[in-house]
Amino acid sequence: VAGPPLLTVRDVCVRFGSIVALDGVSFDVHAGHVTGLIGPNGAGKTTLFNCLSRLYAWQSGDISFNGQSLRSVPTHRIAGLGIARTFQNLALFDSMTVLENVKIGGHCTTSSGFAANALRLPHVRREELELTERATELIGFLELNDVMHAPAGQLPFGTRKRIELARALMNKPRLLLLDEPAAGLNHEEVDALGRVILNIRQGLGVTVLLVEHHMGLVMGVSDAVVALDFGRRLAAGTPQEVQRHPDVIAAYLGST
Ligand code: ATP
Repeated sequence: VAGPPLLTVRDVCVRFGSIVALDGVSFDVHAGHVTGLIGPNGAGKTTLFNCLSRLYAWQSGDISFNGQSLRSVPTHRIAGLGIARTFQNLALFDSMTVLENVKIGGHCTTSSGFAANALRLPHVRREELELTERATELIGFLELNDVMHAPAGQLPFGTRKRIELARALMNKPRLLLLDEPAAGLNHEEVDALGRVILNIRQGLGVTVLLVEHHMGLVMGVSDAVVALDFGRRLAAGTPQEVQRHPDVIAAYLGST
């Protein structure tokens, strides 16, 4: 792969008392790729995302984004560096339209600060027009054109998930962290999600790190896959290589 990785995770260790959540994990995420992060329950995937968002500190090792160590970057500066994240719990404004919900993402500096920022909508009309333009473009990429002016609260769960994704993209992140986006989705919704993840990568050039239990989705959209178990890296490579890896098969069968 040409060029240095966008994200490097090197020998990262995280302990909670006697629990070792990450035990010397290393891997790279290359720009323009979708990288899948898989592993059984408790493998350390969410802990790793929490490190990337600087919600957790790591005891040893390091994580660098675009050549810069994240060790001393506070959580509220992560979005400004170009790292966006979606959470398992949706936080949409039900009575507002899809377009309005997506536009709110452009007023965010942090995911927790968006509500407060939305109340201080800028008076500058030009900025407002730019936000509308960007949101409309994203709505197209996320296959939300048909519901653009519908209130978000009336829409199916899978559609709401895509609204949240569009919102996370408003700040033009370089890296998008997706935390189990397929959880609770039906078959058709997972298919739509797979298409929009590829749209995000190809159309917007955003690099994606995808934590997901739905193997069909991960293997279908990822350029590279990293498998964790008990806080350790079991395997890394192409989806085919990781899927066939004996340690990965054993971990999923619970026979390690
Ligand atoms: P799942 O697929 O079930 O979400 P995961 O791969 O995301 O699992 P983590 O949630 O990262 O796994 O958990 C890894 C280990 O670290 C588990 O043993 C978990 O109980 C522990 N752990 C995670 N966060 C904390 C915390 N804040 N305090 C104590 N233990 C924690």
